[in-house]
Amino acid sequence: MANLDLFAEPPGGDPSADHSRIQVLRALLHTYAHQYYVLDAPQVPDAEYDRLFQELQAFETAHPDWVTPDSPTQRVGGKPLDQFASVRHAVPMLSIRTETDTQGSGAQNFDTRVRKELGLTDADPPVEYVVELKFDGLAMNLRYERGVLVQAATRGDGEAGEDVTQNIRTIGQIPLCLPVDAPAILEVRGEVYMARADFESLNERQRQRIAAGEKGEKTFVNPRNAAAGAVRQLDPAIAAQRPLSFFAYGLGEVTPSEHGGPAFGTHFDMLQTLKNWGFPVAALVSIAHGATELIAYHERIGHLRDQLPYDIDGVVYKVNSLALQQKLGFISREPRWAVAHKYPAQEQLTTVLAIDVQVGRTGKLTPVAKLAPVFVGGVTVTNATLHNEDEARRKDVRVGDTVVVRRAGDVIPEVVSVMLEKRVADAAVFTMPRSCPVCGSAAVREEGEADYRCTGGLFCSAQRKQAILHFVQRRAVEVEGLGDKLVDQLVDAGVVHTLPDVYRLTLAALAGLDRMADKSAQNLLEALQKSKQTTLPRFLFGLGIRHVGEATAKALARHFGQLDAIMDATEEQLLAVADVGPIVAQSIRTFFEQAHNREVVAQLRMPAPDGCGLAWQEGAPAVQAHKPLAGKTFVLTGTFPTHSRDQAKDLLEAAGGKVAGSVSKKTDYVVAGVEAGSKLDKAQALGVTVIDEAGMLALLAGD
Ligand code: NAD
Repeated sequence: MANLDLFAEPPGGDPSADHSRIQVLRALLHTYAHQYYVLDAPQVPDAEYDRLFQELQAFETAHPDWVTPDSPTQRVGGKPLDQFASVRHAVPMLSIRTETDTQGSGAQNFDTRVRKELGLTDADPPVEYVVELKFDGLAMNLRYERGVLVQAATRGDGEAGEDVTQNIRTIGQIPLCLPVDAPAILEVRGEVYMARADFESLNERQRQRIAAGEKGEKTFVNPRNAAAGAVRQLDPAIAAQRPLSFFAYGLGEVTPSEHGGPAFGTHFDMLQTLKNWGFPVAALVSIAHGATELIAYHERIGHLRDQLPYDIDGVVYKVNSLALQQKLGFISREPRWAVAHKYPAQEQLTTVLAIDVQVGRTGKLTPVAKLAPVFVGGVTVTNATLHNEDEARRKDVRVGDTVVVRRAGDVIPEVVSVMLEKRVADAAVFTMPRSCPVCGSAAVREEGEADYRCTGGLFCSAQRKQAILHFVQRRAVEVEGLGDKLVDQLVDAGVVHTLPDVYRLTLAALAGLDRMADKSAQNLLEALQKSKQTTLPRFLFGLGIRHVGEATAKALARHFGQLDAIMDATEEQLLAVADVGPIVAQSIRTFFEQAHNREVVAQLRMPAPDGCGLAWQEGAPAVQAHKPLAGKTFVLTGTFPTHSRDQAKDLLEAAGGKVAGSVSKKTDYVVAGVEAGSKLDKAQALGVTVIDEAGMLALLAGD
């Protein structure tokens, strides 16, 4: 393979250097395009491909005479595979110009170009656009003759694609026949994709197959790659097991029937007609006027992107009027009336500088790849978790490797794959240490567990630090200003050994620490004082009992009312709490059976001066009330007329409902108030029931 790093000077300097750089870029892009389009097995992130593509475009702009018809910049997609019958497209399937400036200026550039091409002046009204999602799947042409699906073809090289009709027929969302008013010949174009959840479960099944020793099985890099693999599967029975979906966004050949043709003057009306004929059209398609509304749409979908049930890599703007589309026409491989406006890439290449092993609160050892800083998913990433030994082995990440790093939304960054061809010869295989890297205690992996754990318990300073940080965090008792750097210092200097020691800190002890001004020390003591008045759920959550998260802590507090009752509860009594199953009950019992844990609790709640003086309001045990909303999940969005969001949450929880932070297929109701945000959009996209505050009160009343 050609050398990736052979990054030459910008174009326009030495012509012979430019010429050889062009050759290198074309060779690389041909290889990557073949892996992506033909083999469905990309080896580099899209962002890397796009970067090289733009570099080649810049060189070709500087040397227009050197542009050849087979340059990757002049071609669409990849050559069709021989195993499928070839289909010559009646109307070529082109690409779309990509706007890689991910800021608002990207939309502005497009609008300016369109206005210029149409000869519009500042006095003319804004251009009307249809705004759509750019689905990350593969383009498909569905051909209907006399209302019956007769052929489905991939885009291929734009002129000819592959006949994949058998496989496409297995997609339930694609109509096999159309209503009588459909044209005599109708070609519908759209994107075949795999929803994220379907992709995850497919990969899980694939992993099980590989583990069971089935030959020829593999996991897929991403949903697009999995969808392309399923569509181009030679065995339709296997394709049928791979869950695919479809969105329509355009037309190919259309011949009216004897009853006349479909009459639409705009792209938007065309989409509505397709919907009426039974094709899935994304709910988030909309109309926008001028650059300002394009930018607003790009931003709105950008916030929604990670919550959507499928991958998108941008949005698409299309001039709405079909007459204006015709006037604007095409340029080489792209229409002038459309553009794909991308979002910041969620995958990038970088190198692994080291692999560290971190120790968590419960002693869990996590291998973490230290990376050369890379801008991905909108932030600079320097660490990526490798999860555990099995994951690290499966991905076979080694120090010095060039890796694909992914960061999507709030999900922690991860290493997706290694570019094996760039591996240095003597790169050593990573092995998990058999002792804790912090305290030296033995590290063990219990049977059936994926993780190694340090057996040092509170002897291990790393575990102690994490336990303290867990207790003082915002969602627990909240001690403002006590972060990881300070906890590191306090534990390393031997000032703090146990959790109660934190509450025994004095101004003098703090003043002895590095870079601790009097004012900060005073503030910390005040924050500690303030944290002493807390609530039972916060205290309980803060103790860091395994499997007891915030929701379980709340449920326990509500059920038992008092800490002593929880500490002394039998497993059977614990199991009576909603949300508490055998594993959680066992974990709570084990925690409170340990004398040192009881001692910590006793010291924390003993009044000053002997104890730390943490206090909360104890309550009466809840009577087993009627729970009309048991098992139902709600998501709240916007402002309600008579209740705050917290009040509504309390009401729903008291009635047995669960209140979640984000909308998914499992959400039963979204309660939407004024200025409801992206959660409402998502509910609509997923078809989740949306109610208002009055509807919620009716449910609470048992209606
Ligand atoms: P494209 O995918 O950027 O754009 C055209 C395609 O967009 C259409 O064919 C259609 O399938 C799709 N599309 C999705 N939503 C649409 C909508 N609402 N309306 C119209 N079309 C919509 O163009 P391309 O030329 O197929 O491929 C370029 C892309 O492929 C780039 O993102 C590039 O990074 C990636 N690629 C990656 C590699 C790699 O090695 N990683 C190699 C080659 C190409």
